[in-house]
Formats: sequence, C-alpha cells, structure tokens
Amino acid sequence: MRVVSILLAAGSGSRFGEKKQFFKLKGEPLFQYSLNVINKIDIIKETYLVLPEEDIERVKIFSFKPVKKVVGGKERQDSVYNALKEIKDCDIVVIHDAARPFATEDMFLQSIENVKKGFDGSITAIRAKDTIKRFKDRTIIETLNREELLIVQTPQAFDYKKLIDAHEKAKKEGLTGTDDAFLMEKNGYKITYNEGSPLNIKITTKEDLKLAECIVNIQKPKRKPLFD
Ligand code: C5P
Repeated sequence: MRVVSILLAAGSGSRFGEKKQFFKLKGEPLFQYSLNVINKIDIIKETYLVLPEEDIERVKIFSFKPVKKVVGGKERQDSVYNALKEIKDCDIVVIHDAARPFATEDMFLQSIENVKKGFDGSITAIRAKDTIKRFKDRTIIETLNREELLIVQTPQAFDYKKLIDAHEKAKKEGLTGTDDAFLMEKNGYKITYNEGSPLNIKITTKEDLKLAECIVNIQKPKRKPLFD
C-alpha cells in the first residue's frame, strides 16, 4: 500500500501580511515542523511540498525521505489539485497545512488507519467547546447545537483515487471548499474523524504566532545545562 503526503505551503499570507509558512519558530521555518513529524512516520513514503512559484528554487528542505516540490495554485484547493496530479498514483494521500506546525504523528497515523479500515477519508478534529452562532449584518440568526459540531483541523487522509475524482468534478462544477473533505462529502463519500488537539492551531494572525511561540516552549523546553 503506497501512502504519500501533501504538505501545503503555497499561501500568499494575505491575512497575515507575510508568508507565514516560512516564518521561523526557534530557528526553523513553520513548514519544517510538519516535515519533521512526517519523517518519523514509516508508512508515509514520499511528500509533495506545495510552494509559491517564486519560492520553489530558494526553499531549503531537511528530510530523510523524498520530497518533491510542486507549484501551488491561486486557492488552497488549486494547490491540492496540482499536487494530486503530480502524485499520479498511490492508495492513500494525507493532506496537511504547513500553517499547523503542531500536528502529531498520532494524528497522521490515525487518519491513515481510518482510511485503511474502509472509510473514504478521515479528518483530524476536536469537539466544539464554545457555543457557535450564525449571524448576518450583526444580528444573530441561529444557535447551532454544540453537541453536533466539530472543529476541523489537518492532517486529513483520503482514498487517493476518490479524492482526485472529487477534485475533478468540483473543477467542472466550479465548486470550492475550505477543505478537501467538503468535496468528498458532496460526492457522498464516507468521511470519519480522528482525534485532534487544541494545540494543533492554524497560524493565521500575529496573535497565533505568539501562541505558537508559547506552545513550542512547552513542547521543547530549553535543555538544562549539564552542570549548574
Ligand atoms: O488559506 P489558509 O490559511 O486556510 O491556508 C491553509 C494552508 O494552505 C496553509 O498552509 C497555506 O500555505 C496553504 N495554501 C496553499 N495554497 C494556497 C492557499 C493556501 O498551499 N493558494
């Protein structure tokens, strides 16, 4: 069974003001955090790293496993599609946003495992803790039932052939979604979820970056000197 990963790092950083995927946390660019995790997962044989065209040549990668650079598209969905076409053939593809540097090995493994068990896809998610409401023009329209809500993260694993099929249909129909599972759901495919974490944040704003600095300090405490 061939399993490959797509690491999405082709955002333009329009909301952030700069390309956050290259921002350095403790000296390492954000995308490298995910590559470090992927490197530890034996079942993932190859990674397709999607980058902005202008950065393809200059970006340096540290990886024990093969990494192919792919030129990104205008939207996230276009970037995924470009990578799916490059892969050409595999059984399971696991897609991850480089803007989430704290995804764990377990998240990758559980999502892949769920597809191996027979689901068409598995998304990393956490249960909603807050009450979520719909609004329009500053007026609340509806309160959603928290018990039925998931907050969705990446990695997300899919049956490769079904996913590329869903992307091709979406392209024809002009359908866009903020994640790949949405395109699969639209085609009636069976998607499940695996356990995410509140620490698996997506870095979107400068505040997120401050949070990321705190998280990285919890996870990698400064080494104690050998002799005090
Ligand atoms: O747009 P958003 O912040 O949700 O992006 C999620 C991930 O998708 C980021 O890692 C970003 O680099 C990537 N992306 C991409 N190509 C785009 C837009 C976003 O690879 N055109």
